[in-house]
Amino acid sequence: MDSPSYQGGTFDSRGVALVDPARLAWGLRAACIEVGVRLFERTPIRGITSHDDHVIAVSRRGVVRAGRVALATNAYPPLLKRLSHYVVPVYDYVLVTEPLTDQQWATIGWDGREGVSDSGNQFHYYRTTDDGRILWGGYDAVYHPGNGFGPQFEHSRESYETLAEHFFQTFPHVEGLRFSHAWGGAIDTCSRFSAFWGTAHEGKTAYVAGYTGLGVGASRFGALTMLDLLDGKATERTELEMVRTKPIPFPPEPLRTWGINWTTAALQKADENGGRRNLWLQALDRLGLGFDS
Ligand SMILES: Cc1cc2nc3c(=O)[nH]c(=O)nc-3n(C[C@H](O)[C@H](O)[C@H](O)COP(=O)(O)OP(=O)(O)OC[C@H]3O[C@@H](n4cnc5c(N)ncnc54)[C@H](O)[C@@H]3O)c2cc1C
Repeated sequence: MDSPSYQGGTFDSRGVALVDPARLAWGLRAACIEVGVRLFERTPIRGITSHDDHVIAVSRRGVVRAGRVALATNAYPPLLKRLSHYVVPVYDYVLVTEPLTDQQWATIGWDGREGVSDSGNQFHYYRTTDDGRILWGGYDAVYHPGNGFGPQFEHSRESYETLAEHFFQTFPHVEGLRFSHAWGGAIDTCSRFSAFWGTAHEGKTAYVAGYTGLGVGASRFGALTMLDLLDGKATERTELEMVRTKPIPFPPEPLRTWGINWTTAALQKADENGGRRNLWLQALDRLGLGFDS
């Protein structure tokens, strides 16, 4: 595409894919119902407890007794306390433009439906939509102290302004284009940027979390591995080092907030300095630790 922000790029036609996430969710729902799964939406589980050969999950509308429990609660407050040591909810925001005219598309020279991401530490990701808009997201990864989570964090004027500024730096030819939609959501960040697994309640409960913003495809693998664990089976998946090991936990507060903010500032500085990483980031790299969205 014709943008002053880029010196070059690579095109990967096999390692990545674009999906419509709403259609994916609706399709998964339909597939579940077809094979007889009963879904209970808007029914938050408040707690789970282990009993001899079963687990009890408690909601405001009643309890569920289950032989096995698969926990896939992403960045939501976890039902097993131990998970809050490994996962922090980090807020990530997105803008969507109004539809571009044919002439605007021609000026930016983006004539395919490619998904795009830049290679900054604080990266942007973007794509086109069916009706000719651009979805533009990323950069900020905002942590709220105490694993802050909730609808009050789902909009951020500051992050929207930063995103808009970066959008027009990337596409100055469409100055004046307006944004019609904006939203944000929490990402389940862990210190190694890839999912981790485990079991609780003497193997009756299994969990997977920590996709660090890349769970749309990876959660298929995450779920299959979790089912292997619930079956108590040793499989090619459960033998993998990434399944057998856990990420390094985040420190408790206030060190957690301090460490995340310090690391975010260092990442931002590295992006401004042509990617040069300071001593703090180099030390984290050596330990296999990081912060990302
Ligand atoms: C702005 C944004 C952009 C993103 N972009 C990408 C991207 O480009 N590519 C990508 O791969 N990933 C992306 N992600 C991340 C991706 O959305 C997640 O990794 C993925 O959805 C994880 O799937 P999941 O099934 O584990 O969790 P979710 O899809 O979040 O599902 C978890 C479910 O658990 C339910 N739940 C939680 N707690 C409870 C409870 N106590 N009781 C009952 N139900 C509960 C929730 O209601 C929810 O339905 C993005 C995320 C955000 C916020």
